[in-house]
Amino acid sequence: MYVIEKKCVSRSLLKIIVGQLTWTGQAGRLRLCGDGAPSPIQAATLSVVAAAQLRPVIIAASEPSMRKVILCLAIALLPTLVAAQQYDLVLEGGRVIDPETGLDAVRNVGIRDGQIDRISAHPLSGRRVIHAEGLVVAPGFIDLHQHGQDLTSQRVKAFDGVTTALEMEIGAPDITQFLKSKEGHSLIHYGTTASHVAARALVFGAPLPEGTILPKSGTATDQAATPEQIQRIQQRLRDELDAGGLGVGMGIQYTPGSTRLEVIDMFRVAAERRLPVYTHMRSAGRIEPGSAIESVEEVIGAAAVTGASLHIVHINSTCLRDSLECISLIEGARTRGLDVTTEAYPYIAGMTAINSAVFNPGWREKLGIDYDNLVLPDTGEHLTKERFDELHASSKQQWVLIFANTQEVIDAVIPNPLVMIASDGLESHPRNAGTYSRVLSQYVREKKTLTLIEALRKMTLMPAQMLECSTPAGRRKGRLQEGADADIVVFDPQTIADRSTFEKPMEPSVGVHYLLVGGTPLIDDEKLVPDTYPGRAILGPGKLVH
Ligand SMILES: [Zn+2]
Repeated sequence: MYVIEKKCVSRSLLKIIVGQLTWTGQAGRLRLCGDGAPSPIQAATLSVVAAAQLRPVIIAASEPSMRKVILCLAIALLPTLVAAQQYDLVLEGGRVIDPETGLDAVRNVGIRDGQIDRISAHPLSGRRVIHAEGLVVAPGFIDLHQHGQDLTSQRVKAFDGVTTALEMEIGAPDITQFLKSKEGHSLIHYGTTASHVAARALVFGAPLPEGTILPKSGTATDQAATPEQIQRIQQRLRDELDAGGLGVGMGIQYTPGSTRLEVIDMFRVAAERRLPVYTHMRSAGRIEPGSAIESVEEVIGAAAVTGASLHIVHINSTCLRDSLECISLIEGARTRGLDVTTEAYPYIAGMTAINSAVFNPGWREKLGIDYDNLVLPDTGEHLTKERFDELHASSKQQWVLIFANTQEVIDAVIPNPLVMIASDGLESHPRNAGTYSRVLSQYVREKKTLTLIEALRKMTLMPAQMLECSTPAGRRKGRLQEGADADIVVFDPQTIADRSTFEKPMEPSVGVHYLLVGGTPLIDDEKLVPDTYPGRAILGPGKLVH
């Protein structure tokens, strides 16, 4: 309780202050209106509050004889008041790390009403106390790039420390339907961009089949849109932003018929709403025209001329051997004042739909790989030309792993300070379940090319700051600070590790002892809490104002 001495405080206000038990950081003196001193019971109440919070408090005008009365009353009041200021949950004695403030110290964290209410070196009282000695207490990881939005994927994300997983790369085809399907049924927080790929398919009269996010290659992906079609695609994106989209998602490689102007026109929609564009770029590899470098230039150019913020997804799998060069282009754009960011996942293989436009003629030359570098995730079958032709022509969507990168590239990309971690998660690829634990075990613990706080920054603060381009709610995410949302991961830095492999992609990670989503334990003592759905929608500004 801090009451400024010079301020005259009415008795009714005092009651309110005492009721809230709010501390602002230092002791002070209290002077009541009227008689100039609190009643013994009020003074005693303040003393107890002060004692319970280990703060001194001076009661003005307390006569020596009155002090005895105050002390007796304080002792009598103590149990009631201590109970009154209990937190819902206290994480006790963990190594609390906050990448924004640089805090890295043993602290107690008091959680109330889904928020971090107090971080203190002093003991805190909670209805439940979790002993976190020897464990790291960090903001829950924010995955900007998660395709698998079902409960099976969310379960493995939780064991990987993720409290928010957003479909930002491509976007959900129908945001209203996406949000409706997840409301009250989500383990972790969710949200999505408006999908350019889906809007284009819709305008071309070939809407995406239910449950898919990528179109089969064909007219709707490969043909240029007319000016009238571009306007209709823009309008669809506006409608989707009104429905809660967090930005515009573009998979340009999946719609190679999109002209440069169509791309710029989509950036214009994002810019008019002051929202970012997330994009899978037009092309990969070194062959000109159509290199990865050219692709980076295209989207940086579109950001520059429209003013939209730009997030380039999986720089590792688009730029391959030129990843560091592509990152240097992003760095150059940032140096000149553009808001451009990027991300990567720590695996040498990518994965996509084999009937998509990524595999339009010329893919082998572009990627510098051959048919047998394509592997079916379920069976481990390496493809031949015949098998590829059959699957590429099929209208049935089949995922295929693409082994086109090297460990050296990944090892150089992940520690780069501009690169945030995002999984591109989807069943059938180990990145779905293992991305975050893999970075912590391989790059922090084993290779030591990242410090723990740097790694956490890539998983928490950097994606939260990206999210702030879309919604003020981003400011309460990715931080272990008083006033932040209580999305918290508690893990053992000595044992956290991925277990998912290309053969067993859905094996959950180990080492996460507790995971709080909005203050609710989802993982409790290394076990998933059943029938608990604390995940909430993160909505763009369109939905908030409508
Ligand atoms: Zn992609």
